[in-house]
Amino acid sequence: MNTVEIISALENLNKISGKLDIHENERKTLINGVSDFANRFISGLKDKKVFNKKNVGSLKINNDEQSFSDLLETYQREVTETGINAASGKHLGYVPGGGIFASALADFIAAVTNPYASVYYASPGAATIENEVVNWLKAVFSFPETAVGSLSSGGSLSTLTAFTAARDKHAVKNETIKKSVVYLSEQVHHSTQKALRIIGLEDVIIRYVPLDDHHRMKTGLLESMVEQDKQAGLKPFLVVGTAGTTDTGAIDPLDAIATIAEKHKMWFHVDGAYGGFFILTSKKELFKGIERADSIIVDPHKSMFLPYGTGAVLIKDKDAVLHSNYYTANYMQDAAMEEMLQSPANVSPELTKHFRGLRVWLPLQLHGIEPFIACLEEKLLLVKYFRNKLDELGFCNGPEPDLSISYFWYPFAKDADEKNRQLMEAIHDDGSVFLSSSVINGKFVIRIAILSFRTKKETVDEKVEMIKRCLKKIE
Ligand SMILES: *Cc1c(COP(=O)(O)O)cnc(C)c1O
Repeated sequence: MNTVEIISALENLNKISGKLDIHENERKTLINGVSDFANRFISGLKDKKVFNKKNVGSLKINNDEQSFSDLLETYQREVTETGINAASGKHLGYVPGGGIFASALADFIAAVTNPYASVYYASPGAATIENEVVNWLKAVFSFPETAVGSLSSGGSLSTLTAFTAARDKHAVKNETIKKSVVYLSEQVHHSTQKALRIIGLEDVIIRYVPLDDHHRMKTGLLESMVEQDKQAGLKPFLVVGTAGTTDTGAIDPLDAIATIAEKHKMWFHVDGAYGGFFILTSKKELFKGIERADSIIVDPHKSMFLPYGTGAVLIKDKDAVLHSNYYTANYMQDAAMEEMLQSPANVSPELTKHFRGLRVWLPLQLHGIEPFIACLEEKLLLVKYFRNKLDELGFCNGPEPDLSISYFWYPFAKDADEKNRQLMEAIHDDGSVFLSSSVINGKFVIRIAILSFRTKKETVDEKVEMIKRCLKKIE
């Protein structure tokens, strides 16, 4: 091709490729479309079912152009109207979702400007926002300034980073793996065992520490297990406490676990994925000892009400983190250390990444912290309110929960498990409010998890009415 031919070919290609850089007027139309869609979606949440059993229609990619309004309609029908509506305040199952609007705006801005947030020199501003969020978290959990941390897509990925640091700090590899012991509570989240498998520690010995009546780890038993294992020549190296269990909302005795971990030189990890941010509330006392952990994970997409895909990990031993994530760390001069730690890529498995910091930073700056705290206090009270209402209806409640997850069952005279299961099904079929179930101490129970920023007293009232309605069908 000669130059003239190249120029002509480029002009032809640009007629097509230029479509990706949408023109200003059309941008306005599209943004208006999205804005209308978002407003309709949010305003409609109150009246919509939270759970739809409907099957999903075709979402096939045909490689052809389609109109934006058709696509929004498809999304509305196939995504927002199938399954669990996690943006709804009536989602009271599993661990409810969030999705505050300020974070959605932050994501939009982050995607439009697309800064390279993982390397300081590429985007000092974006990297500083990422780091500021980590620094803010350190302050929330009373971690020292020297700790490192990173934002991740969620608790599972955060756990990988934390456990990898624990593994490397304790040199758990090759022949020592099979002699190394990890202590977990019986209510530990399954992402914990999964993380061990992923990072090559499938063959460590796992000890499950039994729980007390409030589903908290029995630390006396933990200590005797560790001592026995040491006497048997094994290597205890990691203990995991949970600040807010997924099933029962319990907080392990963190301070006591920290003491045992220190005494036996084990890595102490705290899983605060669900419950972490309740440290900002009147429940602060229950979190005593969390500041003594070697690592913590928290999920802003749970107890900070942010959209899915926002997790965080804090780790005290920066050398352990650099060992796994920054290969040449040992050869760097101290002077370079400061700058190196300013680049999120050096303390996380990710290189190019979603600029997540903005979806945490912007809402905190826009609203201040008070509404977040008030929202968490509100969830704690709503669970109490719900338990009182169920009491009045003759249900049995599980033990008073530490946070905003509780469980209950109806004391049917016969076949209680089977009948409570039928009650759960009736609740799912009704679909106006979503709950989930669990098996606790061998008993089938129905769980309530209150965590959405949109769950209010009216939501709980609606749910109590619905449970009454469903109970009539079973009795
Ligand atoms: C949700 C949860 C996790 C897993 O976090 P993801 O963000 O879903 O990966 C881990 N631990 C606890 C206690 C959880 O509630």
